[in-house]
Amino acid sequence: MKKHNFYAGPSILPQSAIDETISALKDFAGTGISLASISHRSKEFDAVMNDAVAMFKELLDIPEGYSVLFLGGGASTQFAMIPFNLMRKKALYVNTGTWATKAIKEAKMFGEVIEIKGDDFFSIPKGYDIPEDADYVHITTNNTIYGTEYHEDLDINVPLIADMSSDIFSRKVDISKYALIYGGAQKNLAPSGVTFVIVRQDVLGKVEHKIPTMLNYQTHIDKNSMFNTPPVISVFTALQTLKWVKANGGVEGMNKRNNEKASAMYNEIDRNKLFKGTVAKEDRSIMNVCFVMNEEYKDFEAEFLEFATSKGMVGIKGHRSVGGFRASLYNALDIESVNALIAVMKEFESKH
Ligand SMILES: *Cc1c(COP(=O)(O)O)cnc(C)c1O
Repeated sequence: MKKHNFYAGPSILPQSAIDETISALKDFAGTGISLASISHRSKEFDAVMNDAVAMFKELLDIPEGYSVLFLGGGASTQFAMIPFNLMRKKALYVNTGTWATKAIKEAKMFGEVIEIKGDDFFSIPKGYDIPEDADYVHITTNNTIYGTEYHEDLDINVPLIADMSSDIFSRKVDISKYALIYGGAQKNLAPSGVTFVIVRQDVLGKVEHKIPTMLNYQTHIDKNSMFNTPPVISVFTALQTLKWVKANGGVEGMNKRNNEKASAMYNEIDRNKLFKGTVAKEDRSIMNVCFVMNEEYKDFEAEFLEFATSKGMVGIKGHRSVGGFRASLYNALDIESVNALIAVMKEFESKH
């Protein structure tokens, strides 16, 4: 039976990216050596790194003055690296859930954090003041666990930093509005192990304290992400994913695809008597669709999960901190999988 992969991360990747990786693990670029055992200093891997950077720049239309880095440590290391490199006195953080909360915890070690937070995480806070002397504003554009998402780039006067772990390449972004964008690759790009950072060079070098070499962005800019051994396999797969994105209409193509999938899912959640959405409509994520069972059907939650699993649906259990269900509709997921899940929801409705 076909498995429909709705995991939140690590998550679905284009089949072509998986196939190319398997093939390179056997024989990388005609070298007769596995991608898993070739030197990152070889000219063959150097080309992969350069191509991956070039594809990032092309697909996201990254202006001059920005560097693209591939680092280790996950998005979680960025939570500390950002304030370490950029915070002199204070920064504003919009707290939209678990990941932002973790970022705030790290930032507080480096200075004052002005935290903007709503009553709950089912909508995105709006209409707050930003102090002109803040070093930066930090947002999480897509909240993987709660299923809220910014649908437009903020237009503000202080450097804007965004965790785009779970929506990079899902829609067109005006990079020039951001000072720094980062994310773990394991949601929309590659297997876990690599973290991307897009940074405008002019925001660096302004803090007075020393920064350990590996945690200093400048180190990685100067060495083209090869100061130490990069996550070779993940960078290779990321490049294959980006080639697939390009072949499928670029980020505009992805956005069209993602909007179709998300509308189909939300329409069914709103229509089906068993289910309801959890997020304010204007902030609904097109990447992670969260929903629960209506009060009177709450007892059927486990049964629905079992039924859906028996039909090939994988990974639709909601995050342990939220409960209910979450269907992650990352770029590589086909509309067929969404249609299959909707059919399962309809069938379950007709039985109750
Ligand atoms: C998954 C996720 C993270 C954590 O990424 P790691 O690479 O595991 O550190 C951070 N932010 C967001 C928005 C995420 O979805």
